[in-house]
Amino acid sequence: MMTTVYGRICSSHFDPVEKKPLYHFHPGKEIYSIGSLGCNLRCKFCQNWEISQTGTEDHPYLHQYSPEQIVRNALSHNENIGIAYTYNEPAVWFEFMKDTAIRAKETGLLNAMVTNGFINPAPLLELVPFMDAFSVDLKGFTEAFYKSYTSSGLQPVLDTLLLLKKCNKHIEITNLVITNANDDPGDFRRMVDWIANHLGRDTVLHISRYFPMYEMTHEMTPVATLRDFYHIARQSLHYVYIGNVIEKEGQNTYCPGCRRIVISRVGYITEVTGLDSDGNCIYCDHNILDV
Ligand code: SF4
Repeated sequence: MMTTVYGRICSSHFDPVEKKPLYHFHPGKEIYSIGSLGCNLRCKFCQNWEISQTGTEDHPYLHQYSPEQIVRNALSHNENIGIAYTYNEPAVWFEFMKDTAIRAKETGLLNAMVTNGFINPAPLLELVPFMDAFSVDLKGFTEAFYKSYTSSGLQPVLDTLLLLKKCNKHIEITNLVITNANDDPGDFRRMVDWIANHLGRDTVLHISRYFPMYEMTHEMTPVATLRDFYHIARQSLHYVYIGNVIEKEGQNTYCPGCRRIVISRVGYITEVTGLDSDGNCIYCDHNILDV
């Protein structure tokens, strides 16, 4: 097999790190985000289907970069913390991601992979030494959902999460809640309990709102469902957020020790108000962020 997308980038932006979403990884900072084409999944609800479900022949406007050029771009903004491999599934441009991540690390930049988690252990272990954070989709909690809606399976994603945990990596999980597809409260509760029991109660979970997209016409997720799921998740996990919607609840970070707000968020405006430079709560010294 030979990759046709090495260094071929279709999107590059300086994004808030919260957009990945990563809420507990250098909050309020920006990260240079790059994406290419293709995906190993076929999600019927894909929000980036124009770049994920296509080949290079349909995209004459790809720009060719070397890893060094990407790193130079990333270093051109003083406030930028690193590089995010995102937009489409970066596992399908593994070679370029790895080469770029190695060079980025040499300059002191951080690396973050935004992934569906459907990657074999051996290549994942090749990436782990250079990757600082992983934003992983956990799209549902039944094999039937994964098979019907993504043409893949659940267990490999769970195995990825377990391996990342074993490697002591920063993990944030995103669950897109789709109306009449993966919105069974019992399944959601089982998922949250699995996260708490296997990855720990401090694992960050983003509950994200679905909008009809690509091949899916199911109604957008009611905000009431997101709120219900938020409260279910908060029974087991310390850090739960609601995304993809303008909503007051599920935005701020509360210290699990003293319940005060330590990071406040309005949209992508983030203010770290209650943490010291070691990532500990200034009111009760509870550790919130790994710095
Ligand atoms: S894994 Fe992500 S990029 Fe790939 S098809 Fe699914 S939603 Fe789209």
